[in-house]
Amino acid sequence: MTTAIAISDLTKIYANGFEALKGISLQVQQGDFFALLGPNGAGKSTTIGVLSTLVRKTGGTVEIFGKNVDSHVYETKLDLGVVPQEVNFSQFERVKDIVMTQAGYYGMPRKLAAERCEKYLRKLDLWDKRNDRSRTLSGGMKRRLMIARALVHEPKLLILDEPTAGVDIELRRSMWEFLTELNESGTTIILTTHYLEEAEQLCRNIAIIDKGRIVENTSMRALLAALDKQTYIVDLAKPVETLPDWGDVPVTASLLDSHSFEITVAASLTMSGLFKLFLERGIEVSALRSKSNRLEQLFLGRLTDARGDAVNV
Ligand code: ADP
Repeated sequence: MTTAIAISDLTKIYANGFEALKGISLQVQQGDFFALLGPNGAGKSTTIGVLSTLVRKTGGTVEIFGKNVDSHVYETKLDLGVVPQEVNFSQFERVKDIVMTQAGYYGMPRKLAAERCEKYLRKLDLWDKRNDRSRTLSGGMKRRLMIARALVHEPKLLILDEPTAGVDIELRRSMWEFLTELNESGTTIILTTHYLEEAEQLCRNIAIIDKGRIVENTSMRALLAALDKQTYIVDLAKPVETLPDWGDVPVTASLLDSHSFEITVAASLTMSGLFKLFLERGIEVSALRSKSNRLEQLFLGRLTDARGDAVNV
């Protein structure tokens, strides 16, 4: 399997001394749809900036399709399309010219550039607007224009920084569809987001970044499975030597000592459901507390207050 991105021990200290990345290591395989998820200020844009050589790294190495970004500046740029968070094209240029100029940067022959320009403006529902000045576009159209511009040289890897931040629900869904199709046709996609729901809908693999460090790097499926469970520490009124048989109930439990045990259940199980489980098995509880794990602290406390509802931190 080809590695699309290999980041090793990446650090970034900004000019004011702020350490935005504290040694990040990460790999993304070709064909993946990968999310870099984290709260505001975590270091997502900085990471993307380094990948696209807009931010100069302090230390570490970055390879794109096996080529070092420092020693193969031009080749790595050819493989890469970047959609930044902020609109960064001239507000006075016409839609078509913005895409054509970008094609020019990549040295594309004019005929091919015109074909690609039409292809992507049509795909992104902007063809009717091709002769309009970009400042007249709605916010959602401006974002789509940045995607068309990033795709005109048909890069193997597309990186999007918060593609749907501030975008309404309907547009978000149509953008998700477009990106899913693009990924299915072979383009590797990396996006940053602070919406868990967005990562959940789109991505196969995920890294969670917090305060400049990767705190989790796993498949979306494993992450969701971990979030769907809840662990409790239970203190017993009467000591036991073994735990009962839990039957068909999906539970994992282990004795900590004769007076307490740890039990992991589905997060959807209510407190009364839990106590019923204990009562039916003759377990007398004197105290119970929930043991929150790193992920819950990150998601429930800070990243989102409910799936998909972003909280600015
Ligand atoms: P994210 O994209 O996850 O919201 P960023 O990568 O934009 O996070 O920022 C990470 C941290 O680095 C933040 O605390 C931010 O304030 C800081 N930062 C970003 N750019 C600069 C800069 N040019 N100078 C100093 N600090 C910066």
